[in-house]
Formats: sequence, C-alpha cells, structure tokens
Amino acid sequence: MEKNQYRPETNAVRIQTEKTWQMEHSTPLFLTSSFTYDSAEEMRATFADETDNNIYSRFSNPNVDEFVQKVCSLEGAEAGYATASGMSAVFASFMALMNAGDHLISASSIFGSTHTVITKFLHKWGIQYSYFDINKPETVEALIKPNTKMIFVETPSNPGLEIVDISLLAKIADKHNLILNVDNCFATPVLQRPIEDGAHIVTHSATKWMDGQGRVLGGAVVGKKELIKEIHAFCRSTGPAMSPFNAWVLSKSLETLHIRMARHSESALTLAKGLEGNANITWVKYPMLESHPQYAIAKKQMSGGGGIVCFELKGGLQSGTRFLDALKMLTLTANLGDSRSIASHPASTTHAKLTDEERAKVGITSGMIRISVGLENAQDILEDILQALEQSK
Ligand SMILES: *Cc1c(COP(=O)(O)O)cnc(C)c1O
Repeated sequence: MEKNQYRPETNAVRIQTEKTWQMEHSTPLFLTSSFTYDSAEEMRATFADETDNNIYSRFSNPNVDEFVQKVCSLEGAEAGYATASGMSAVFASFMALMNAGDHLISASSIFGSTHTVITKFLHKWGIQYSYFDINKPETVEALIKPNTKMIFVETPSNPGLEIVDISLLAKIADKHNLILNVDNCFATPVLQRPIEDGAHIVTHSATKWMDGQGRVLGGAVVGKKELIKEIHAFCRSTGPAMSPFNAWVLSKSLETLHIRMARHSESALTLAKGLEGNANITWVKYPMLESHPQYAIAKKQMSGGGGIVCFELKGGLQSGTRFLDALKMLTLTANLGDSRSIASHPASTTHAKLTDEERAKVGITSGMIRISVGLENAQDILEDILQALEQSK
C-alpha cells in the first residue's frame, strides 16, 4: 500500500494497493473470495496474525483496504472498516461497541433507518436509548446515566440540516467517558472532520456524496484504533463486508471528492441565495446562509455547506406533490449526493407515516422540500426549481 504521506486530498488520489506484476497504473479489481499461500507455514503464520497477507474477503481485500485507507486519511482517523451500506456501518458501530444493559443517547433528528434501528431493534439486545433535541445539546448531560456508553449524532442532519457543535459534545463525552459517534455523511470529510473536533468514531454512508454518482451502496466506520478493533472483530464474524467491486468504484470516486464537494457547495449556496425571499416559500435552510439557526457553528466546524438545500412551500403538503410533478430536470428519487440534482418531499414519502407532531420532532415540516444539488450548471438547477415553484401554488 502506498503510504499515507501527503495532504488528505493527494492521499485520496495517490493511496493505492501494491501493484501486481503487470505494473498497472489504475488499481485492478480483486474479485476473489479468498487468498492463497505457498506453504503450510505461511498459512499458519497468516492465521496467527504474523503477516499482512489477506485470508478471506469478508475479513479484508486489497480494494476494500485501499478505500478504507483513503477514508482514514481524509478523516484523520487511526483505523477503519468498510461495510456493505451506510446502515451496516451505523449498526455495526452500535452492536460492536455496546453491550446488553448499556444506554445510548442520540439526537432525535437522524436518518429514518437509524431511527428505526434505535427505536425498534436495540431493545432486542437490551440496549436502552434516550433522544435529545439536536438544537439543545445542553440537555445531553442530564440524560447521562451510569450505564450510558455512547452519544450519537448526525450533523448536518438528514433531512432537516440541523447542526450541532461537535466539540461541545466531545467535551461532554470525554468528561463522562462516553464514545462520541458522528454520522458525517452530509458534510463528508472534505467539509468537516469530526475526529479533529474530538469525535471518537465517524460513520459514513459512502452511497451518497462519497460515490457521488448514484452507482453503489457502501459504508465505513473510522476512528480510534481500539474501537475499530472491536468493530472489525464483530464484522469479521457477522459479515456486513463491502464488496470488492463496490470498493473499487468507491476508491475511484474518492479521487474526485474534493473537487465535487467544492462544486456541490458552491452551486447549493447559489441556489439557497436564489430562493431567499421567494414569494412561494416561507423559509430556505442551508448551513452557510446567515439565516441558518446554527450558522455560527456551521462556520466554525465546516469549510463549506455541502450539497443539500431545504425549503418550505407556502402551500404545505399539497404544494409539495404539485412541486415535484412540475419539475422538468430534477429527478424524483430516494437517493441524495448524486451528480444529478434530486428533489424529495419527505412528508409525502419517507416520513408519510408520521404525524405532524412526530415529523416536527425530527426536523420535518409538511411542505418541506429537500434538494440534493448536483453537478449541472447552477443556473439550470435554479431555473427548474423557480418554474416548479410558480406551479406549486
Ligand atoms: C443514507 C444515509 C444513511 C444510510 O446509508 P445507506 O448507504 O443507504 O445504508 C445513514 N446516514 C445518513 C445521514 C444517510 O443519509
């Protein structure tokens, strides 16, 4: 493996698994379930952890390792493990680091499936949870019990773009000897490095901005060596490994993450500013707009606002569906973080089963639209949204 020796954006391009005898320039795809040995002694030593040889692609694989090394460099993490999806990364971080009888404190503004894991499944393994309002991190300390093990947050949150001060939570976590686990999917390590702000574990859905082209599912957990060791041990036996093919795609994707996130952020800010004051909406939310309630924190811990912009249609729920139908270019799809701009209306889709009150708790209102700003010309994106707004009344 090429060493982690340059600045993160260079490492994201240059980290590469050892060349084969063909001396290829671009990393080949290692589609193999297992690896071979020249002798019984070499095999014994490998199983005894005395060599760096691979054994089986559920444990490690050259393509997966290359991807993991890049994510570690980008996040400034000691170690990492790549998973088949973002959800398997989040789930593994809970399962490997908590025991029956432990207690999790999580912000309530989190990705829908993470909310389901916490509220519907953790109790199966005897893990308790408490939710806090992400806008009131000062309430976290009062929720800590003798059995609390972890604090979990997403910042910015999906889909409400709520932001919490990572360093403030890190101080609380350190004071009480808790693990701070941050889902950094929306910002990516290009715009926000939670480990530098004191987080112990960072989880990712690589499906979103990391791939950035809507092709493959993937996830990663990176952070402190001793915690990743637990996650690796758990995953090695339970099997949520990333496929070598997806790792090969994602490792290539990371080579362009810096330039893509800069462009996504620039276009998203153009869109957010272009929507401010529009007669058909009540508010627009973007981390780098001064009107964002946590603008000061965003400025402090993020170097750009990312590619998600949210706004509220004046006409509520019904305007939401009219708006989606009126779009000409933007795609209606469940994903985000793509080169193609995407519009979604959480209240009629992902969060349709919730009451208005329940939606408010997770930062969603009935006329809220989430735009994932792609790599098209920013004016084309803005113009499509403006014409759809006219028709959504
Ligand atoms: C999509 C997403 C996940 C889950 O990732 P998958 O790759 O879809 O499993 C987790 N957290 C956030 C913030 C997400 O947006």
